[in-house]
Amino acid sequence: MRHTPPPRTYRVKSFGCQMNVYDGERMAELLAEQGISPAPEGEEADLVVLNTCHIREKAAEKVYSDIGRLRREDGTAPLIAVAGCVAQAEGEEIMARAPSVSMVVGPQAYHRLPAMIADAVEGRRVVDTDMPAETKFDMLPARRKVGPSAFLTVQEGCDKFCTYCVVPYTRGAEVSRPFNDLVTEAHRLVEAGAREITLLGQNVNAWRDESNRGLEKLIEVLAAIPELARIRYTTSHPNDMTEGLIEAHRDVEKLMPFLHLPVQAGNDRVLKAMNRSHTVDSYLRILDRVRAARPDIALSGDFIVGFPGESDAEFEDTLKLVEQVGYAQCFSFKYSPRPGTPAATMDGQVPAAVMDERLQRLQGALNASQLAFNRHSVGTRCSVLVERQGKYPGQWLGKSPWLQSVHFTADAAIGDLVEVELVEAGANSLSGRLVQ
Ligand code: SF4
Repeated sequence: MRHTPPPRTYRVKSFGCQMNVYDGERMAELLAEQGISPAPEGEEADLVVLNTCHIREKAAEKVYSDIGRLRREDGTAPLIAVAGCVAQAEGEEIMARAPSVSMVVGPQAYHRLPAMIADAVEGRRVVDTDMPAETKFDMLPARRKVGPSAFLTVQEGCDKFCTYCVVPYTRGAEVSRPFNDLVTEAHRLVEAGAREITLLGQNVNAWRDESNRGLEKLIEVLAAIPELARIRYTTSHPNDMTEGLIEAHRDVEKLMPFLHLPVQAGNDRVLKAMNRSHTVDSYLRILDRVRAARPDIALSGDFIVGFPGESDAEFEDTLKLVEQVGYAQCFSFKYSPRPGTPAATMDGQVPAAVMDERLQRLQGALNASQLAFNRHSVGTRCSVLVERQGKYPGQWLGKSPWLQSVHFTADAAIGDLVEVELVEAGANSLSGRLVQ
């Protein structure tokens, strides 16, 4: 068996959703606690963790090309761990296809990385795609240093089984983290530097505490933390938008006026084939109630074009929905058949050229909607959370309450909340003037 010296440096590369970004941050903290340091920029790391995403076809294949790129000229490679959703979905197959990989660890088992590294150093290759009883959160080190805006995973997994999605298979059933653990972790995040916390979950609004209270209760309690200025949450499902959560947008000042509520398509037959278990009308009625509670709210969504069987007319319905809602921002994708999902074997797979054309038209409509929303904000005064320095001297970048990127010039610092007037709008960002 090939022995390897214990790693002194690491690099965690995360792909995909914010949940993966959060897991990547936690894995880095875990490795740091083992005395392993982040590899300096541009330098090779002794240990590389590829924290993978399984949502799109190319994503899985990309893992193997990333692994290939880690091989050195002399045929050796750093210690390689494959984590995340491709690890969960493909497990042993990765070991068979990629001999240079020492560890394969699923999203629910990465708290066991230190033990796996000890095995790998001894030359033993390990796969752990367990969904263990003990939750990783109880085994992970406390948060030490975070940026002004931090993620807090409150819920994992999904019970919705949309016919195109692998998440229920790679992340498991919906699990809500305990209320007290979340309040404790939120306090630690604020102590570690966070001014804004984004509550994360595949279906974050399905979170329930031990007394079946909803996300609005957690938001209300976190809003009482004095140094915490802003609260956000993502990703939600229309069917879990409770009256309580909608009212929280009216009543909790620290809850930002931004709602990411995926819909995926604008036609009921397609939504049914996707097993979204809501209609276009029920989705629009939720948005009406949310807008009644918080009239200036920014809405965001997810769309898939080219779902099997989607006709030209059904795609036109999606464009009509975009027109009707007036999204502030949106994510849009071409349908990608995922192994093991019902939609992958459905009739009427849409040709790639048709998908390309539809995606282009949809993104044209979404960009116009986003620009219109930004233009509508010009002249507004709002707070901006400073996240980083801009390109020019004295220039800073941050986010408005509506999650718009804003750049402005001022004597400021990362983590400051500054008052600006939005003076000019672009498609993806706005410029602001500091209000003394
Ligand atoms: S709600 Fe649907 S799309 Fe979202 S994670 Fe669950 S199965 Fe996937």
